[in-house]
Formats: sequence, structure tokens, C-alpha cells
Amino acid sequence: MAKHGRLSDPFRVDKPRKFRLEDVDPEDTRGLKDEEHAEDVLRRGVEELAEEQEKLYAQDRWSLLLVFQAMDAAGKDSTIKHVMSGVNPAGCQVFSFKAPSSEEIDHDFLWRCVKCLPERGRIGIFNRSYYEEVLVVRVHPEFLQRQQLPDRLVTKRIWDERLEDIAAFEKHLARSGVAVIKFFLNVSKKEQKRRFLARLDEPEKNWKFNVGDVKERERWDEYMGAYEEAIRATSTGECPWYVVPADNKWYMRAVVADAVVARMKALDLEFPVMDEERRRGLEEARSFLKDRRSGRREGGE
Ligand code: ATP
Ligand code: MG
Repeated sequence: MAKHGRLSDPFRVDKPRKFRLEDVDPEDTRGLKDEEHAEDVLRRGVEELAEEQEKLYAQDRWSLLLVFQAMDAAGKDSTIKHVMSGVNPAGCQVFSFKAPSSEEIDHDFLWRCVKCLPERGRIGIFNRSYYEEVLVVRVHPEFLQRQQLPDRLVTKRIWDERLEDIAAFEKHLARSGVAVIKFFLNVSKKEQKRRFLARLDEPEKNWKFNVGDVKERERWDEYMGAYEEAIRATSTGECPWYVVPADNKWYMRAVVADAVVARMKALDLEFPVMDEERRRGLEEARSFLKDRRSGRREGGE
């Protein structure tokens, strides 16, 4: 079996200062022969992820936070659906972050996400996240204005400061036992256009089409600049970014699954070992259940 991480390692941003988006190819499919091969790899990844998740839950020490960011139509939702398809829903929660409500906007920008962090033993998925604060909010100054920050705090350093705060926040999470992995699903502008047109042409895809998304597309280069800076400032050994080629969905899903499994394997998750006291407790419970008198008390035997 292929070593965990072999497929996804090339897309992990290990040298953030040198990272440039234009060096990565959204059409890349290295390491996999074709779609069928990818489906096979994904299937195995999903199985392994389910096994790791059981241990994560039973051990109750670590939690995992998967952050998904992308331009529209890159396939965030379907990737989450496929990669997490084998996971026990009780141990996993997905949160989607859209334009903030008036209650949310009256707090610091991390507030709404902090409330949704995964409990120990769980997997949390952020479909968009606090990174929107250095992406869409950066591209749209009117969104920053809506936040009503005191004037003196809004300087030209604000984006660097936010990135610094995000990096510090993630470091704090890492130190608290939350393993964070971030995915930028990197779709090309050309492929996005093709997918938008398919949403218009095919009646069963019409519901996915959002007129506003076409406007955002006009600001493609600004978004790419913002993504690049965010990735450069916040990809660390503990909380890495993966920039995943997204023009072929089958490839993207296999890569994401591989990265998640590799991260979980690196946590060395184990089912809890029973100590003497706990073992004695289990033995007592067994005798109690077998004891005919207790059965009679319950009206059983
Ligand atoms: P998605 O676009 O993620 O597939 P969707 O189409 O169901 O989901 P939308 O109503 O489009 O949901 O909400 C997502 C939009 O919310 C994105 O355009 C995103 O940039 C925006 N958004 C997210 N966080 C913020 C924020 N903090 N400030 C302003 N806009 C935000
Ligand atoms: Mg949308």
C-alpha cells in the first residue's frame, strides 16, 4: 500500500516564504493514472479515515480541524461529502461560514468560529472560515467598513495584523491539541467558467448558480493575491496549508483524503489502554450483570 501522504505531500506548503500561486498547476494529476485509480485511492482513504476517527473519538485527546477555502465552484461541498463519507456522523461536524450576521459582526472576527471549534475527540470541518477575513473582506473594503472598527485601528497594516492574529490563534489551537489542516482547493479561472456555464445550461444544476458569483470572478486576481499572502503568512509545520489542484475533482478528493489520513496517522492515535482500576471496574460490571439476583430484581430471570 502506498505510504500515507505520498500523494498529498507535494501540495503541502512547507516553504511558505517561497510560495507563489503561479507555480502551481490546477490541472496537475501527478501520482494517479486516471479517474478509476483515483477512486480506488479515495475508497481506501475513506476507510482508513473511518478507522482513525474511531480511535480519535475513543482516545478523546486530540481533535482535528479541517479548513476548506476556495473560489466559487471549486468543489468544496462535494469534496467534504466524499472525503467524509465513511465517518461516523456523531464524531464530526460541518460549519459553513457565510456573510456574518449582525450579532457576529459586533464581535471580533474569530468569535463565530471559536464557538464552532471541535470538541476533543471530534473532527470539525469549516466550509470557509476566519480566513474570509483576509480574503473577501480584503477584496471588498465596504465589508471591513461594516465591521465598525475604531478608526485608529484601521491602518494599512490591518491585513498583516489579521494574518498575525490568525497564525497566533492556530498556534494556540495546536498547543491545545487541535490539529489544524487547511485546504485551498485551487481551481483555474478557465475551469470555473466551464462549471458556471454548466450550472446555467443544465436545469438540474441551475440551483447552484448564484448571479453574484460572476461578479466575484471579475476580481479573480485580487483574490489570488489575497490567497497567496494568506498562505505565505500562515502555513506552518503544525498547521499547514495544502494547495490542491482542483480542475479534476476526482484528483482533488483523493489528495484531500490522503492528507487527512496522513495527519491523523501522525498523531499516533490508539484505543485507550485499560489500567488496573478500570479493568477491575469492568470485571465488577460483568459479575453484576451475570448475577442472577440482580436479574431477578429487574424482573428478568
Ligand atoms: P459557498 O459560496 O461557500 O459555496 P453558498 O453559495 O451556499 O456557499 P453564500 O451565501 O454564497 O453561500 O455564502 C458564502 C459567501 O459568504 C462567500 O462569498 C463568502 O466570501 C462570504 N463570506 C464568508 N465570510 C464572510 C465574512 N466574514 N465577511 C463577508 N463575507 C463573507
Ligand atoms: Mg456562494
